[in-house]
Amino acid sequence: MYKYDVMSAKAEEFINHEEIMETLSYAEAHKDDVKLIDEIIEKAKLRKGLSHREASVLLACEIPEKIQEVYDLARQIKKDFYGNRIVMFAPLYLSNYCVNSCVYCPYHIKNKHISRKKLTQDDVRREVIALQDMGHKRLAIEAGEDPVNNPIEYILECINTIYSIKHKNGAIRRVNVNIAATTVENYRKLKEAGIGTYILFQETYHKESYEKLHPAGPKHNYAYHTEAMDRAMEGGIDDVGLGVLFGLELYKYEFAGLLMHAEHLEAAKGVGPHTISVPRIKRADDIDPSVFDNGISDDIFAKLCACIRVAVPYTGMIISTRESKEVREKVIGLGVSQISGASRTSVGGYDQPEEEDDNSAQFDVSDTRTLDEVINWLMRIGYIPSFCTACYREGRTGDRFMTLLKAGQIQNCCHPNALMTLKEYIEDYASEDTKRIGEELIQKELLNIPNPVVRAKATEYIENIHTGQRDFRF
Ligand code: SAM
Repeated sequence: MYKYDVMSAKAEEFINHEEIMETLSYAEAHKDDVKLIDEIIEKAKLRKGLSHREASVLLACEIPEKIQEVYDLARQIKKDFYGNRIVMFAPLYLSNYCVNSCVYCPYHIKNKHISRKKLTQDDVRREVIALQDMGHKRLAIEAGEDPVNNPIEYILECINTIYSIKHKNGAIRRVNVNIAATTVENYRKLKEAGIGTYILFQETYHKESYEKLHPAGPKHNYAYHTEAMDRAMEGGIDDVGLGVLFGLELYKYEFAGLLMHAEHLEAAKGVGPHTISVPRIKRADDIDPSVFDNGISDDIFAKLCACIRVAVPYTGMIISTRESKEVREKVIGLGVSQISGASRTSVGGYDQPEEEDDNSAQFDVSDTRTLDEVINWLMRIGYIPSFCTACYREGRTGDRFMTLLKAGQIQNCCHPNALMTLKEYIEDYASEDTKRIGEELIQKELLNIPNPVVRAKATEYIENIHTGQRDFRF
């Protein structure tokens, strides 16, 4: 039997089933304990985070006033740490060849009717130009696991191609990578290729379910998958992104597992996760989400996001176009800091939008708006869309990024960077209406830069962007 140990290198010890079960019993037993809940909320107000046990009590609590307090705190933490900025990105699907058999994913090896595709370097070029022409600066590349069709060399070649393309004023300045768990050596190669965050969704932290949901293929190995972030960090990648595919297992179990994973990385590696993603299962070719028993309502989903926000205030939270405009609007307020826009989940979908007979997509997207529509909407509901990639390019990754955050310098750094990248978007890609709203917003928000020297510099840079210069950053 495994014993819980946050420092252990063993998956079953840092994500310990018995510890999760005890946590869930503890949370259930204390869900009406107002005194304890108040103490936990007070602790969360210190903005230093909560343990998986404490946060699980908040998630279990069903007292409306207390839930409201958690929501209010999540909103406040979001404001203090991330301001009203929302970072934009797009996924880029490189290949849907896959040797795994994940039962929720249309790429599974037994799916014989999905059209299998893999981008050539010329295809990558066309996709990236299409993405640059929309205004994207940050990508998350995605691929199935297939050592023959998508070996690490292929992924590295694609990353090189992506960074090399400069079309008009466009550029992809940060490539995040979402590929299957791999070796320390391969993580080192990804680091050398200049990736931003390495993202890998755990799918489920419940080992028994994990093994059933991944009945064959390399992904079947729970320990190898769960220990991937440790190997990534050993390979020099210090920004890692966690995630759970909600709907597979009980959400309270996943929530405790997710926080234990974050605690483990912080304790054993000195840096917690850079981001947490919160995908929910969607319909896809050969996949009917209703066969999974653990789907969660939009309300529970919002509660989960708020609890993650107060439990790990320093971790960015990502939401994709799997969610509708309405759900996105709700959870952006509760703590989400990064969203995708105008995503295509098919291989080659940006340059050649899906044809009738193309079923290569990974899942159906709910938010189908153009990037301009998303940017326009964000500004109308009070946010600053940001295309900033400065931290990564200035080497502010891992604990160096956290230092900036903890020193409260975000408003003198991320805020002007967001405005300058928004200005680039407006100059190069925006519709007339978006341009008008954006110009007003930038002028208004420049005044919210506290340091007068930074404010003056940012104002000057923004004028320079208007006269044709690009790529300023603090
Ligand atoms: N193949 C890589 C791996 O094994 O981790 C990652 C890339 S995969 C393209 C990205 C993620 O999409 C998966 O980790 C999974 O959580 C999610 N996904 C798979 N099927 C899905 C579905 N039907 N609905 C929503 N998300 C899904």
